Amino acid sequence: MAWYRTDDGKGVMHIKFDRRGEKNKPKPCLAPFELDDKTACQRMSAFLCDWPVGNGKTCDEPICATHAFEVGPDRHYCPRHTREHLDRTTPLDLASGRKEAAHG
Ligand SMILES: [Zn+2]
Ligand SMILES: [Zn+2]
Repeated sequence: MAWYRTDDGKGVMHIKFDRRGEKNKPKPCLAPFELDDKTACQRMSAFLCDWPVGNGKTCDEPICATHAFEVGPDRHYCPRHTREHLDRTTPLDLASGRKEAAHG
């Protein structure tokens, strides 16, 4: 039997799948759970990470609606790759260039 954390993060739900469902059951979200840094989120995943990892493949990490970062239509990143995405798209010069300007 599979178990998932409920959407409010406070409880769990156990779901019994039939044979066919068992094969296609959604994977639990692997992101670190926000209220307890020792466990994984375990909410039912709604998306797979679309971050390209080369060879035409994507990260494919299961992510729940809470942890998915939407970057476009039907494109979502896992928390790890969301950070990488933001690191690349946020200009770092802005923060580092300011020090010298203030000094003068
Ligand atoms: Zn999650
Ligand atoms: Zn990812």
